[in-house]
Amino acid sequence: MALIVMKFGGSSVADSERMERVAWIIAEKFTEGNDVVVVLSAQGDTTDILIEKANEINPNPSKREMDVLLSTGEQVSIALMAMTLEKIGLPVVSLTGWQIGLQTTTDYGSARVERIATERIKTELDRRRIVLIAGFQGINRYDDITTLGRGGSDTTAVSVAVTLNADLCQIYTDVEGIFTSDPRKVPTAFKLDEITYDEMLELASLGAQVLHNRSVEIAKRYGVNLEVLSSFERKPGTIVKEVTKVEHSKISGVARDTNIARIALMGLKDEPGIAFKVFRTLANASINVDIILQSIGRDDTKDISFTVALGDMAAAQSVLEENKESLGFTDLSVDDNIAKVSIVGAGMMTAPGVAAQMFEALYGAKINIDMISTSEIKISVLVEKKDAERAVSAIHAQFFGA
Ligand code: ASP
Ligand code: MG
Repeated sequence: MALIVMKFGGSSVADSERMERVAWIIAEKFTEGNDVVVVLSAQGDTTDILIEKANEINPNPSKREMDVLLSTGEQVSIALMAMTLEKIGLPVVSLTGWQIGLQTTTDYGSARVERIATERIKTELDRRRIVLIAGFQGINRYDDITTLGRGGSDTTAVSVAVTLNADLCQIYTDVEGIFTSDPRKVPTAFKLDEITYDEMLELASLGAQVLHNRSVEIAKRYGVNLEVLSSFERKPGTIVKEVTKVEHSKISGVARDTNIARIALMGLKDEPGIAFKVFRTLANASINVDIILQSIGRDDTKDISFTVALGDMAAAQSVLEENKESLGFTDLSVDDNIAKVSIVGAGMMTAPGVAAQMFEALYGAKINIDMISTSEIKISVLVEKKDAERAVSAIHAQFFGA
């Protein structure tokens, strides 16, 4: 007998038919004799629809009221799922974030989990009930409702698993697991049996939106046994863990991010402290910078270019223009016609030649590389947006075969 935390995403509980299918998956685990805690997301597009409704009334609602609104979606899901399980004749109780004492930081809309009280959940499990928990929500120290950021139900599930010291945390979704690339774009992409926490974190930040980033960070920190699997097909999914057996290839995945822009500053003075000033200015404006490239100085000047999230492009541009004089650049240019293509793999720490293999694939596809950045387990290149999909396919073929 084990304690299992299962989380079902919005598409898995989108309508009554899907709810019923999920109910049977829960029933199976429960009747095997396990203690079962289930975290649910809002049904289908509910959260998006609630956001639209808010914006129709007030394009600038307070974050507090936004959280009061958005947290309702998950409450609908747990109530309906409880009713579905009752119909099957199983003992069940649904609980919201405050009922399980899920305490968060005060930041409405992007709160972090601080602690979860265990008493209520444990009492219900001792009564041999299936415990359904509304994902994505908690309460802060003002007893206000908070939400954990889009996709935050994964983080609820992993946090609950840590608190209860669960044997397994299963994240059920509409894909079979983590793939080597987006299977809708790369037909030869295949599901991985295992992936490391670090690889998963890199892929999540690269836009493989299967798991909420925070949930993977927490899983890594506490060594949670995490599995990503499909609620539609009953097959093993992908296990996320610390160390994996070396599979098919030196890398685990090829990802692409088209939501970026590049900013270039020209004619900066070639002297100490310039990079500091530029990036301090951006940091003070809460703008995250990704890839940075500095040209070799000539005539006492140098250029610095870097990438930011597309959503931050305008803000970055204006804060730099405002400080043009003190930063001392002559020209600024922005380009959103770019994409970042990356390979991720814990295996590249020990395998030489991975970068060369990636660049060979791009050369073969006649795709020009603009900027390059590397970390221990990741290599990213900037390419023109129009080349991004071809780049991913060519690199995928190079490492995994066509
Ligand atoms: N319902 C929330 C969202 O759509 C949280 C989640 O699904 O994890 O972002
Ligand atoms: Mg999700």
